[in-house]
Amino acid sequence: GASGKFFVGGNWKCNGTKDTISKLITDLNSAKLEADVDVVVAPPFVYIDQVKNSLADRFEISAQNSWTGKGGAFTGEISVEQLKDIGCKWVILGHSERRHVIGEDDQFIGKKAAYALSQDLKVMACIGEKLEEREAGKTFDVCYQQLKAFADNIPSWDGVVIAYEPVWAIGTGKVASPQQAQEVHVAVRDWLKKNVSAEVASKTRIIYGGSVNGSNCAELAKQDDIDGFLVGGASLKGPEFATIVNSVT
Ligand code: PEP
Repeated sequence: GASGKFFVGGNWKCNGTKDTISKLITDLNSAKLEADVDVVVAPPFVYIDQVKNSLADRFEISAQNSWTGKGGAFTGEISVEQLKDIGCKWVILGHSERRHVIGEDDQFIGKKAAYALSQDLKVMACIGEKLEEREAGKTFDVCYQQLKAFADNIPSWDGVVIAYEPVWAIGTGKVASPQQAQEVHVAVRDWLKKNVSAEVASKTRIIYGGSVNGSNCAELAKQDDIDGFLVGGASLKGPEFATIVNSVT
């Protein structure tokens, strides 16, 4: 990778029970992991406390969503203050499932990112095109528009990791080729350079997500502008997740 420490996030999505998560924690605690990698796991909200209390400190914990502002009369939401209180350091925002299944738009996501960062909760900022957008030649435009919504809202890119996750690759087994991913990562870095600053472009980590597994991670990790991964399905299997962490080059 080009920027900073290799970063691997595990997005557990809406999966697991106390028992399966306890087994996953045991596997992660016993895994041999390269030291020079930031490893962050994102359990479902209701299990964060269990994970915080039993997973080794070598792992940081992320939430999968957060509210746009200070907590209060917002039934069903979880505030940034609460996440920090139970030991979260990160939140995943702009994930394709929240954009396209739940219906969150760019401005709502941008507001969430701004508030999280204002309270020192770091952000995995997800972007990525749908298949029809790729086929229509709009991949870069879609990514730039999503990036702009983050840029227009957040005060600084400190504490932000960008996750490029093409929607057609998420949970489908159709991983982007190393060349396809690298091409977009370069475009994202270029966009940051032109629209934010050369410094932010060179120091912000850009990670890839979408059907990353223990077999395809090594080739992807060799690409110059791939600074790590966001992993869904394969993050539910301790040994395979460890292989992905250890693909750092
Ligand atoms: C994700 O949800 O961020 C993801 C990349 O999922 P998967 O690895 O299962 O494609």
